[in-house]
Amino acid sequence: MKHRIHKWAKHGLDWVYPRECVFCSTSLRTLKDYFYLCTACEDSIRFIKESHCSTCGAPFDGAVEGIRQCAQCVELKPIFSEGMSLFKLRDAGQALVHALKYRRGNYLVQDLKRLVQSVPEFCDFLAGACLIPVPLHARKQASRGFNQSEVLATSWAGLFPNTLVDNTLVRIRVTASQTGLSRDERFANVKNAFAIDRKALLNPSCRYILIDDVFTTGATLNACARVLHVAGAERIGVATLSHG
Ligand SMILES: [Zn+2]
Ligand SMILES: [Zn+2]
Repeated sequence: MKHRIHKWAKHGLDWVYPRECVFCSTSLRTLKDYFYLCTACEDSIRFIKESHCSTCGAPFDGAVEGIRQCAQCVELKPIFSEGMSLFKLRDAGQALVHALKYRRGNYLVQDLKRLVQSVPEFCDFLAGACLIPVPLHARKQASRGFNQSEVLATSWAGLFPNTLVDNTLVRIRVTASQTGLSRDERFANVKNAFAIDRKALLNPSCRYILIDDVFTTGATLNACARVLHVAGAERIGVATLSHG
C-alpha cells in the first residue's frame, strides 16, 4: 500500500519534474521497475550474480572452479574476509554511481533498494548484519550535504529485519580523492584516516559489513576494516554498489 501511495505521489510529481533515465536521459513517463532507469538501460546493468571473488566481490569471467579469491585479494590479504558487489562499474551502472555521488542521489533510494532486491545472494549477505558506512570527513560531508555510503547503508538496512546502521566510524583527516591515484598512492592516502567515534568496543559476535559505493583497490575499505578489527570486530565484510 505504501508503495502504491508513493507511486501516485510520484506520478503527480512527474507533471512538475519529469523524470529522466540517469544514463540515456530518455524521458520516463510511465513507472516500470525503476524510477530513474529506462528498460533498455536497466537491461544493460551487469549484475554480479554468479562467480565472483568471495573476499571482495570482484566478478570472475565465466565459471571458475576451485579459486575463490581474486589475484588482488591474494596480494592484499585484506582484513575483511567476505565481500559482495552488486554490479560492474560500466554504462548505466556507472551512471547510477555518478548520480548517487555527485548529483545528491537521495532521490535514487527506491531504485537502490530495487537493485539489491534483484540479487537474492546480496540480500542474504546484508540481512541481519550491522552495516557501517565508509565515512566522509565532516568538512566534506558538510559541503556535499550527504554521504553516499550512508544513503546506501540506510536504504539497504531498511529492507531487512534485524539489520542496523552504525555510524561509529569517522574519517579523522581530510584525504585527497582516490580517483586518479596509483594503487600505492591510494593505500598511502587513506592510511590512519579512520577511527572509531566512541570508546566502546565493537561486539565480536556481530557481523559487520562496511558499505561503500565503489570497490576499486580495496585501500579505503581495508583501512576501515583495520580500525574495526582493532576495536574488537571479528567478522568483517564489505558490500559495494559497484566494482570498478
Ligand atoms: Zn536509459
Ligand atoms: Zn577479491
